[in-house]
Amino acid sequence: MKEKKQWMCFRKQVWIQLSVITIFILFGLDCAFRSSGDLRLYESYIPHENQTAAIKQGKVRVTFLGTTSILLDDGETQILTDGFFTRPSLWKTAFSKIESDQGIILSVLQKAKINHLKGIFVCHSHYDHVMDAPFVAKITNAKLYGSSSTINVGIGSGLNKENMELFQLGKPVKLGKFSVTVLESKHTPPFRILGKTNATDPNFPNISSPLSQPVKALDYIEGGTFDFLIQHGKNKILIKSSTNYVTGAFDKINVDVLFLGIAQYSLQPLSFQETYYNQTVKKLKPRLVIPIHWDNFFLPLAKPLEPNLRLGDDFDSNMNLLLQRTSKDQIQVLLLQGFESIDLF
Ligand SMILES: [Zn+2]
Repeated sequence: MKEKKQWMCFRKQVWIQLSVITIFILFGLDCAFRSSGDLRLYESYIPHENQTAAIKQGKVRVTFLGTTSILLDDGETQILTDGFFTRPSLWKTAFSKIESDQGIILSVLQKAKINHLKGIFVCHSHYDHVMDAPFVAKITNAKLYGSSSTINVGIGSGLNKENMELFQLGKPVKLGKFSVTVLESKHTPPFRILGKTNATDPNFPNISSPLSQPVKALDYIEGGTFDFLIQHGKNKILIKSSTNYVTGAFDKINVDVLFLGIAQYSLQPLSFQETYYNQTVKKLKPRLVIPIHWDNFFLPLAKPLEPNLRLGDDFDSNMNLLLQRTSKDQIQVLLLQGFESIDLF
C-alpha cells in the first residue's frame, strides 16, 4: 500500500515536471514565431506615398517588393534586383521542396506594373533571392545577371543562354539610362537556428550544376554575394542586400541613396555594428537610407509586410541602432511597405 502511494506520488511529480517543461517550450516557440518588431513605432519613417502618376523625364521611381527585391524605373527602362515573389511559408520551406509559383509571380508583375523590365540582378543565390528570378526573366524577356550559381539556377529553369549574363565585377552594364556596376561583397555572418547553420560548406561554395525545381531551400547555395552601384544621369544608388562589408570597398564612392540590408544587424558584436555603419553609410554619404531585408519573407507579398521573426532577428533593435546613427549624421531614413513607390530623384 505504501509502495503504491509512493508510485502515485512519483507519477504525479513527473507529470507536473513534464507539464512545466511543455509550457516553457510552447511559450518559447510562441515567442520565437512572433514578429521581432512593431511597425507602428516607425510610422513617421513610412512615406505612405505610392506614386502612380507617369514618371517625369529624368526621374527615377523605386518600388519596394519585399526582402531585397527593388524595382527601379525611369519611365523608359526598368531594372530589378532578385524578384523573389513566391515567398513559400516557413512550414513548406523547412519541411518540403519548394518551387516558384507562376500565379503569384504574374500577379506581382501586374500589380507592380513591371512591363518594360530590361535586367534582373541577383544579390546571391540563396532561395530568398534567386528562386523566382529566372521565371521573371522568362515572362518579361529581361536578361538575368548573376554569379555562376545564379546562371545554373537559370539553366535549371530552362532559361535561354541569350537571356543570361555572368557578372563581370567592376564593369558597368548599360541598360537604357541606367548603368549598373556589380561589386563583390560578403554575406551576413552565418547563424544557427534550431541547430542548423546557413554557413556555406567550403567544399560546396557554388551551385555547380543546373538546379531544377522543386528543390530543398538548402540546395540554393550562396555562391558569392554582390552589391550594385547604379548610376542614372548624375544620381547614384547603392543596393547592399546583406549585412556585411568589404573593408575599403566604398572608399572612393559616394551615393545619393543607399538601400541597406539590416537583417540581424543588432545580433552582431558591437565592433561589427560600428564597422558596418562606418564602412557603408559613413563612406557612401547618402542623403537617404532605405532599410531592406527586414520583412518576414515566409508571409505573402500580397499582405502588408511584417518584420522578421524573433527566431532569427530583432527588427526593433536593428532599426534603433540605425536610427541612432543616422540621426546623428542627419541622414534621412525611409521604410517602404510592400508595393510602395516613391520618386528618388
Ligand atoms: Zn542569404
